[in-house]
Amino acid sequence: MMTAIVYHEDYNKYDLGVTHPLIGDKPRKTMVFLREKGMLRFLKIFTPTRVDENDLLRVHDKMFVDHIKELSRNGGMLAVDTPAPVGIYDYARLAAGGTKLAGEKLFEGFHCAINPLGGFHHAGRGYSSGFCFFNDIAIAIEYLREKHGLKRFLVIDLDVHHANGTQDIYYEDPTVLHISFHQDGRTLYPGTGDVEEIGRGDGEGFTVNLPLPPYTSGDVYLMAFDEIIPPLVEEFDPEFIVYQSGVDGHHLDPLASLGLTYQTYYHLADRIKNLSFSTCNKLLVVLGGGYSSMISVKSYYNIVCGLIGRGDYIEEEAYISEKNMRQVEELIHSLKKILSRYWNII
Ligand SMILES: [Zn+2]
Repeated sequence: MMTAIVYHEDYNKYDLGVTHPLIGDKPRKTMVFLREKGMLRFLKIFTPTRVDENDLLRVHDKMFVDHIKELSRNGGMLAVDTPAPVGIYDYARLAAGGTKLAGEKLFEGFHCAINPLGGFHHAGRGYSSGFCFFNDIAIAIEYLREKHGLKRFLVIDLDVHHANGTQDIYYEDPTVLHISFHQDGRTLYPGTGDVEEIGRGDGEGFTVNLPLPPYTSGDVYLMAFDEIIPPLVEEFDPEFIVYQSGVDGHHLDPLASLGLTYQTYYHLADRIKNLSFSTCNKLLVVLGGGYSSMISVKSYYNIVCGLIGRGDYIEEEAYISEKNMRQVEELIHSLKKILSRYWNII
């Protein structure tokens, strides 16, 4: 079965400046590395176009969209950490167009589709920061909901930062099960994502957060994944899965402090692919954050290896010892206690 990947050279214009941590040409570097490693023969490349205003307005407030359009004309600041360069309205719409196109490919015979410039999960309906402008995940979900009438979307967000924007958009919506694993908000931007944040109203029980303490190692992270995610996925029985596969949880990422390794990313992607195979067979992957150029690109490569089922992934040179097992076990216990009010999880 073929995997689709979307790519446009203009992706590399989503650049917030030379001194900004976001690596503007990371999409190109990722594609070059995949080509050098001989992976493109397993991937079919598609060229995205920009989403239109109608796509944006299914998710975002008109005032917010107009604000970004205005900033994009002369440049400015969207938030203290998020400069808005000239033209960003078009580049952010192109990124969202990639996620939308990748989503559509899953209805055209592909079982997995990847957008290397996606996962802007800090964008809410009427606000954003954290290097994000438009929430491409929600834009794709709302487009697919309208076009294909789907009723159960699963989002697994493994970026090191809490997915506050996506969570807020779907906080009262039981049709989207949103699971975020991230570094504890008391130690990292954006500060949210406590285990007690579980959704509201009809959406109660459909938001799941696991805030991990700094330095948590990859083996402990995988243990937590296995304890929490498969039982929820099985019971929810999604019709569509989005995997935000940010790699800023790697132990050498400059912006955060988790202890994941290259291997961890292979094993996570492999597990999520298998969850997709056993449910809806529709897996949309947005590659998400990662702020050290080569480390991010190698981690993304390992994710692609996991998705397409190739075992020749990159391994860490140094051994990373187990860290925070007992703390994370306690955390899992607390989370399961909360979730057991809504799910068959023990
Ligand atoms: Zn991140």
